[in-house]
Amino acid sequence: MPMKKGSKEVLAKAEEYLAEIQALAVKPFTIMEVCGTHTVAIAKNALRELLPPTVRLISGPGCPVCVTDSSDIDRYLHLAAQPNVITTTFGDMIRVPGSDKNLQALKAEGADVRVVYSTQDALEIAKKNPEKDVVFLGVGFETTTPTVAVSLDIAKREGINNYSVLSMHKVVPPVLRLLAEDKELEVDAFLDPGHVCAIIGTKPIEFMAEEFGKPGVVTGFEALDILEAVVMLLRQRQQGRSEIEIQYRRVAKVEGNPHAQMIVQKVFEPVDASWRGMGLIPKSGLGIREEYASWDAARKFSLPVFHSPETPGCQCGEVLKGRIYPTQCALFGKRCTPLKPVGPCMVSSEGSCAAYYRYFQRS
Ligand code: SF4
Repeated sequence: MPMKKGSKEVLAKAEEYLAEIQALAVKPFTIMEVCGTHTVAIAKNALRELLPPTVRLISGPGCPVCVTDSSDIDRYLHLAAQPNVITTTFGDMIRVPGSDKNLQALKAEGADVRVVYSTQDALEIAKKNPEKDVVFLGVGFETTTPTVAVSLDIAKREGINNYSVLSMHKVVPPVLRLLAEDKELEVDAFLDPGHVCAIIGTKPIEFMAEEFGKPGVVTGFEALDILEAVVMLLRQRQQGRSEIEIQYRRVAKVEGNPHAQMIVQKVFEPVDASWRGMGLIPKSGLGIREEYASWDAARKFSLPVFHSPETPGCQCGEVLKGRIYPTQCALFGKRCTPLKPVGPCMVSSEGSCAAYYRYFQRS
């Protein structure tokens, strides 16, 4: 669907999709949006309110900051407190609470923590500060890993030895499998993440439709994209199909982006990873390969493994698994607000709790 449409045209198309949804939604249908950017778009455009009561949208584990385990947060806070270290990170991470503080508090205490907009910025900081160790906090899904992989490759090639990455990267297919196997989770279909699938393609997630009978549609991020994807999923149900289809055709292809896949494979390897609220998921993380060990912050600083408890009272894990709406957390909007977040789901711009707080409140 073209992006540039007049508002009348958009409204007409939205009405057309909503009418078809109304006609097809003859019995209950629950769809999980896997990606945090979808969660925000759905909340911002009040799409839940526009859909008939038979179509339920629930949020999933698609916010990379939110799924970062408490132990990993305490681990990078430990690293950021080391003398001679400059910690570089995307802005969302600054206010994520660890067991007793966050990066912002550490910075106020004198730690050198800098927000960057790209790994290129982090590399530049490393070049300008040869006497310091510059660490980039690698948090993200398949969408962000290619640029981090490129930065490590450049660092190795150019001998930028004071640059390293603490990899907490995660990949989506294993967590989809976990969700599909969860007998308590009543989800009929998935809005699959458009940007992730632009990198990996659809093959790595086809098992969802084939093995588990859970259809999916790789979806873009405009309101019309999401409505069209809902229509596509309902049509699949009506026609008795279970497939992974692409709605976000202007960006995502079946084969994904082979160049991005290649650089990620060159630098990273699959490792088991802990997800907030979901525990250890086999091969769901990306570790830095031996060839790049000198640029791996975990090895370089011999970082200990932390075993931190979940933040008391915070139900981010249940939110990320689609078991509860954010408003069902007892702390939502009371002890936990974007100004005073208790858990990461209220901090991140892609967090479900932050999206619900900003745009509406519904249980
Ligand atoms: Fe955690 Fe706050 Fe969300 Fe509750 S409202 S789940 S405390 S982030």
